[in-house]
Amino acid sequence: MNNLEQEKNKIKKINLKIDGISCQACVAKIERKLSRTDGVKNVSVNISNNIGLVEYDEKSIKIDEIFKIIEKLGFSPTKKEDLDLNNEKNKVDENLKKQLKNSKVVIILSSIVMYLSMGSMMGIYIPNFINPRQNLIIFTFTLFFLTTFVMLIAKRFYTVGFKQLFLKTPNMDSLIAIGTSAAYIYSLYITYKIFLTHNLDLIHSLYYESATMIIAFIMIGKYLENLSKGKVSEAIKKLADFQVKKANLIKENEILEINIEDIKINDIVLIKPGEKIPVDGIVIEGASSVDEAMLSGESIPVEKKKDDKVFSASINKNGILKVKTTALCKDSMISKIAKLVEDAQMTKAPIAKLADRISLYFVPAVISIAILSSSLWYLLVKYNFVSVNKNIFEFILTIFVSVLIIACPCSLGLATPMTIMVGTGKGAELGILIKSGEALETLQEIDTVVFDKTGTLTQAKLEIIDIITNNNIKSNEILKVAASLEKNSEHPIGLAIYKNAKAKFKTDETLYETQNFKAISGFGVEAEINKDKIFLGNRKLLEEKIKFNLQEKNKIFEDLEAKGNTIVFLAKNSNFMGAIVLADVLKNESKTVIKKLNEINIDSYMLTGDNKRVATSIANSLGIKNVISEVNPEDKYKKIQDLQKENKKVAMIGDGINDSPALAQANVGIAIGTGTDIALESADIVLMNKNLETLITAIRLSKAIMLNIKQNLFWAFIYNTCGIPIAAGGLYLLTGHLLNPMIAALTMGLSSVSVVMNALRLKNFK
Ligand code: ADP
Ligand code: MG
Repeated sequence: MNNLEQEKNKIKKINLKIDGISCQACVAKIERKLSRTDGVKNVSVNISNNIGLVEYDEKSIKIDEIFKIIEKLGFSPTKKEDLDLNNEKNKVDENLKKQLKNSKVVIILSSIVMYLSMGSMMGIYIPNFINPRQNLIIFTFTLFFLTTFVMLIAKRFYTVGFKQLFLKTPNMDSLIAIGTSAAYIYSLYITYKIFLTHNLDLIHSLYYESATMIIAFIMIGKYLENLSKGKVSEAIKKLADFQVKKANLIKENEILEINIEDIKINDIVLIKPGEKIPVDGIVIEGASSVDEAMLSGESIPVEKKKDDKVFSASINKNGILKVKTTALCKDSMISKIAKLVEDAQMTKAPIAKLADRISLYFVPAVISIAILSSSLWYLLVKYNFVSVNKNIFEFILTIFVSVLIIACPCSLGLATPMTIMVGTGKGAELGILIKSGEALETLQEIDTVVFDKTGTLTQAKLEIIDIITNNNIKSNEILKVAASLEKNSEHPIGLAIYKNAKAKFKTDETLYETQNFKAISGFGVEAEINKDKIFLGNRKLLEEKIKFNLQEKNKIFEDLEAKGNTIVFLAKNSNFMGAIVLADVLKNESKTVIKKLNEINIDSYMLTGDNKRVATSIANSLGIKNVISEVNPEDKYKKIQDLQKENKKVAMIGDGINDSPALAQANVGIAIGTGTDIALESADIVLMNKNLETLITAIRLSKAIMLNIKQNLFWAFIYNTCGIPIAAGGLYLLTGHLLNPMIAALTMGLSSVSVVMNALRLKNFK
């Protein structure tokens, strides 16, 4: 194991559920503190589900210490693994129910407060026993009690808000706590004066209705926000829920129904028509068409027969299948996808960092603005620069409260994570796995797509169209020798040759035994048969190994290659035996995809290890102008680097098998259509079905997501920046009225709700 790997092994990743987060300022605070802690490599907290992902070095920091740090900041973390998902869901549901109940009570109480205060001022009917004109004291005390009750229901704002304020890291709750407390305390003072003087005019100075209405609007806003947050994570739950719970195990000719958790590798399960496939495995008997939409987003069923792979959560349409399990339930493809998407939803797009930085300074700035603007107005009025139509103290109180309330940056904080969450969920539904917010943001900026040839532009279903022999060797012998080597190969060429031979010779036994098999990536394969050294691969392989020169046959081969056929050459010791000519079938949609990319100003390149003539011929038929051919897998990434040096933003799309370095080098690496672990790991984005059109959908989705984020940020930002000067007295200069703190609360609640609604629009993306 080299140093790098050892380094990696010490790093642990952990998901934490963090309670007490109410806004982006909290998130920024936790992230800033932890990222400055020794031993913490990476931290990202997502406000849409209050889950933090922490990567830390076990050698230099213990998880307990991380917990302590978070607790010291005023939040309570739990390990996510410790949480039972079902339990969590119940807890969330219960919380929502409680919230709804609380909001209802608050709405009713604050409506009464509102009715009494407004009614008394505007002369609407109020029953005598509580009418200030008849019963001033009862009226005032009723308002006082109702408001106090409402504040008790909303006590969380005060406990969290003031706590954070005293920790010198005020957050959104602090703004609400200070604002409503100011209104409340002033009203208490007026209540006391009413009690002493019985002066009816003083009721105009009561601000109980502001305090209650602010709380009411914000609670409703929070409730709606949480309601839709729940809706979003449903997408992932749906994905995971799609796994069935039971499977029919075949054991000693008996069929037992057992839990899927108890299924072991190599167990055999029976799947009847219409049933969901419970495990990842290989078909050992039967044939059927299988709907894999849950994994690939592709709704056309796939035909499965013996030796084909099937995946948990897909639906067996019409046949009976016997399947041998290849992975435990927790390692199944669908579990991995669900995990991957969930992790992705927590990562941040670079654009979110801006919002984070703003939020961190925003709240203290708002408190300062509130204090400054009310002080300024106080001085202006006191020294007669402006005259106001009411008590100066009430005047500046209104300004102070409105500024605090309208400037809550919570919509700003929600803008990006909300959209990324909905967007990546939608992607998963369409068979597009986006692994990070960063990949998403980069994808919509690309101007160049580099396609791998085999398996990406073509179907990688190669057919042997000819076998050319040398020195009277039988063509069957060539096929037999070639297939004996290729039996060990994973390469599409290898698979094609082996499959063809098997069809021709019916059994495996006619093939030769091979020793010392070696795949030379990008060149071919070699092995020994009865002590003879056999080489099979491209020209370069033979040139290198047997100093081989094609001479007179060259013209034939070049002509075949110019038609787009791949040729592999076979040699025994130092003798050229013959060649196999293979043709691949283009994917139906390849040509349209290239055309569509062209239409949106994205250049297409083809990158292949195959011969130049073959590559050019295929590129021509697809309308690709740029061909990079005869490149070793190891050198493919250098070609991507070259393109990047020309200031191109490059997406590389390949099957992920021997393209990993290139996928990693590209600005965005996209793996296509293979249900393999390598693909999931090596790429930034994985397209779960082989249809290249998904690439276009992915680019469109990334554009839609980024546009959505920008809309959200724009509205949140405009709203906050315009709101502050208006609340700070700007409106008074224009109209002679101050912004009512209740209106401030209403708009502030609405702005969060509108951000959430806008993000949810992405659910309708097609
Ligand atoms: P691609 O870029 O199309 O995926 P590779 O880099 O995998 O191609 O391979 C490049 C060339 O090397 C192939 O066109 C073929 O000539 C030769 N080659 C690679 N693997 C094999 C194999 N298993 N058998 C025969 N030839 C092979
Ligand atoms: Mg390849």
